[in-house]
Amino acid sequence: MPLPSPSLVDPFGRRINYLRLSVTDRCDFRCVYCMAETMTFLPRDQVLSIEELAQVGRAFIQLGVEKIRITGGEPLIRNNMLELVASLAQTPGLKELCLTTNGSRLEHMAAPLSAAGLQRINISLDSLQPERFRQLTRHGDLHQVLKGIEAAQQAGFARLKLNAVILQNHNLDEVVDLVDYALNEGLDISFIEEMPLGIITSHGRAAEFVSSATLRDIIGERYALTPNLHSSGGPARYWEIAGYPSRIGFISPHSDNFCGSCNRVRVSAEGKLLLCLGNEQSLDLRAILRNTPDELAPAIIKALQLKPEKHHFDLQEQVDIVRFMSATGG
Ligand code: SAM
Ligand code: SF4
Repeated sequence: MPLPSPSLVDPFGRRINYLRLSVTDRCDFRCVYCMAETMTFLPRDQVLSIEELAQVGRAFIQLGVEKIRITGGEPLIRNNMLELVASLAQTPGLKELCLTTNGSRLEHMAAPLSAAGLQRINISLDSLQPERFRQLTRHGDLHQVLKGIEAAQQAGFARLKLNAVILQNHNLDEVVDLVDYALNEGLDISFIEEMPLGIITSHGRAAEFVSSATLRDIIGERYALTPNLHSSGGPARYWEIAGYPSRIGFISPHSDNFCGSCNRVRVSAEGKLLLCLGNEQSLDLRAILRNTPDELAPAIIKALQLKPEKHHFDLQEQVDIVRFMSATGG
C-alpha cells in the first residue's frame, strides 16, 4: 500500500503513525511506581495551551499520524479537555483518538468525551481492594474509579481497556482477581512491567519486578490462555480465554523488547518531542510554536532522524531516565 505523503519514517525504516500527547504533568494521584510523594510540577506558562496542543496534533496528523492518545499526568484534570478532543477529532486524517486516564473524573466526563469525538479509553487499575488501591495511588478512591468505568461503558465506548502495573510485594496476589473483573465486565486488560522512569523512594524497582511470563503462569493456572493474533502495532502481546471476548495483553519492556516495531513518538506537556520512552533526547516544539510556527513540520521531520533504535532499560541501575512517566506522557 502506498504511504501517505508526507510520512514520518525513521532511519530504521519504522513508519511513525502514532502520537502520544501529554496534556499535563499534574495528577490527582501519586501512584508509587509513577511519582514521588512530593512532586514539583511545571509552572503553568511552560505547559502548552489547549490551542498549542491542538496545533501540535494537527501538524502530526498532516505528517501522516493516524492515531493520537491523549495522556499525562492525568489528562482529565486539565481544563478545556473537551475542546481539545473536539478539535483533534475533527481533523481530517485522524483515524483513532484515544485517552489514558486514572478514571477519577470519568464518571462525569465519559459521556461528554464520547460526544466530543473520543473513540477509545484506557483506564489504569492496579487493585480492586479499596485500601490497597489507596496505598498504591496514595490519593485514589477505588469506588470513584469503578463508577468511572461504568460510566464509560454506559457512554458506549468499545473495547475499554484496563492497564495494571503489578509489583511483587504490593498486588501480585490480585492478578487473577483483576482478570476476573475484566472478563466479567467485558473489558480488555493489559499488564505493564514497571519501567525505571523517575527517582522513587517507595520501593526498589528491581525487588518489585514481576515479568509478564510470571503473570501468564499465574493466570494460566486458572484459565487456558491462547495467543491472540491481534496487534495494535504496539508493544503489547495479546492472549485470550475461550468463551470471553476480552483480550489479555502484556507489555514487557524488560523481558520482550518491542522496539523493532515501534511506531510512536511522544510530546510532553511542555512541548518536548520525545523520540523514545527510554531515551532523554528531545526537541523543544514549544519554542518553535511560540517563535517560528512555520518551522514546526520541517523540524518534526528532521528530529525523527534522531529516533534511537531501542531503549536501554536496566533494572540493576536504579534510574535510567530521570524523567517520570507522568512527565513523559505514559
Ligand atoms: N494518569 C493516567 C493513568 O494513570 O492512566 C495517564 C498517565 S499514566 C503515566 C499512563 C500509564 O503509565 C498508566 O497506566 C500507568 O500505570 C503507567 N505507568 C506509570 N509509571 C509507570 C512505570 N514506572 N512503569 C510502567 N508503567 C507506568
Ligand atoms: Fe497519576 Fe497516572 Fe502517574 Fe498514577 S500513573 S500518578 S494516575 S499519572
